[in-house]
Amino acid sequence: MIEHRTVKGNRLDPWLDSYAARAHGLRASETRSLFAVASRPEVVSLAGGMPNLKDLPLDQLADATAQMLRKDGGKALQYGNGQGLARLREQITEVMALEGIEADPEDVVVTTGSQQAVDIITELFIDPGDAILTEAPTYVGSLSIFSTYQAHVEQVPIDAEGIIPEALEESITRLEREGKRVKFFYCLPNFHNPAGVTLSEARRPQIIEICHRHHVLIVEDNPYGLLGFEGQTYTALKTLAPNDVIYLGSFSKIFAPGYRVGWAVAPPAVRDKLKLASEAAILCPSSMGQYSISMYMENFDWKHQIQTFRGMYRQRRDAMIAALNEHMPMCTWNVPDGGFYVWVGLPEGLDAKDMLPRAVTNLVAYVSGTAFYAGGQSGQDHVRLSFCYPEPAEIREGVRRLSEVVIHDLELRDLFGPATPRPSTGVSAPAPDQI
Ligand code: PMP
Repeated sequence: MIEHRTVKGNRLDPWLDSYAARAHGLRASETRSLFAVASRPEVVSLAGGMPNLKDLPLDQLADATAQMLRKDGGKALQYGNGQGLARLREQITEVMALEGIEADPEDVVVTTGSQQAVDIITELFIDPGDAILTEAPTYVGSLSIFSTYQAHVEQVPIDAEGIIPEALEESITRLEREGKRVKFFYCLPNFHNPAGVTLSEARRPQIIEICHRHHVLIVEDNPYGLLGFEGQTYTALKTLAPNDVIYLGSFSKIFAPGYRVGWAVAPPAVRDKLKLASEAAILCPSSMGQYSISMYMENFDWKHQIQTFRGMYRQRRDAMIAALNEHMPMCTWNVPDGGFYVWVGLPEGLDAKDMLPRAVTNLVAYVSGTAFYAGGQSGQDHVRLSFCYPEPAEIREGVRRLSEVVIHDLELRDLFGPATPRPSTGVSAPAPDQI
């Protein structure tokens, strides 16, 4: 037997010196092991962004899927078209129409969740060192992708109305001055993950105008747009500037993530490149997933299902806000109008990452704000709480447990001074149940 050992490699990973430079940033997040504990039933997890699927009609879905397989199994179990099933692309335009977006099915590229769309967009546009603008904070799953492609990520401050236009312009101008190529602005306009805020209608045209003037493409990631608790929707950036925006949608939060079906809508030239990049990576998106969703949209009242989801998530949001009011007056938070997340500010001197092991010991989990910043250099003063998955009673208990930990850390702070932030190891890949 050959024993693999190289000068630079080590016994745990003999290929250490063989990885591409871009793979060096790919590390499991430090909190993964904690989350293995957090997934025990006695822990209330306010960490993951997993949708709650218990309202789905599983029996009827099982029967309809069996029927679909009998009728279309030869195609549903076969390779398909790289751009995605034509019928499903038409149905996707019906989903987007609910937010007032007019799209041509020809411009839709079906992807393996919107996560794959972010990946191929980054692959297409980013050379190492190119700049991507994002909100500060932003979605951790996209930060992992940006890091893999060795992008320079510039995070722009947000407030209660979303990204601040003046700050966006200032960042672009500075990056241009530094000679960086600013390739795109990755934007989460609706029910932001993790911040819970929505970009105001007034700012939307301003953002478009700034990006247009600086020739910066916009990537509009909108998985939560139909989950406004009052049924409200907002003007898509795509609607305002079809040629300047790649729009991303997903069935993960309005139906079920297990199918892994999302989509991108792009101007024709970009659409063709996305299709080729997707084919190179995966040949075609899952035919089974696409046929199943197409069947679901044909045979089920999917719009009503979205309304049911809205009501359920609204109840959970209310439970979380009531519990925060009762137990955590020492913290600050926003009240989201939709989506899954509340972004909670900790009292001064507390450190979200440092506190996490104590929270898990006290049987509650959250995601530290540091996960949502490139390099993990900021965000220690916030935690992201998700209200999507646990029952309202569990949410209340989880927040109560968290308040005990915050009170404990406040006592430590008063005795010993503020927590000393530990050096960050940079962006690292979270487990899927933490994103
Ligand atoms: N974007 C955002 C903002 C998300 O929150 C998520 C999932 N948590 C995704 C993209 C990826 O979703 P999917 O790949 O399931 O469509």
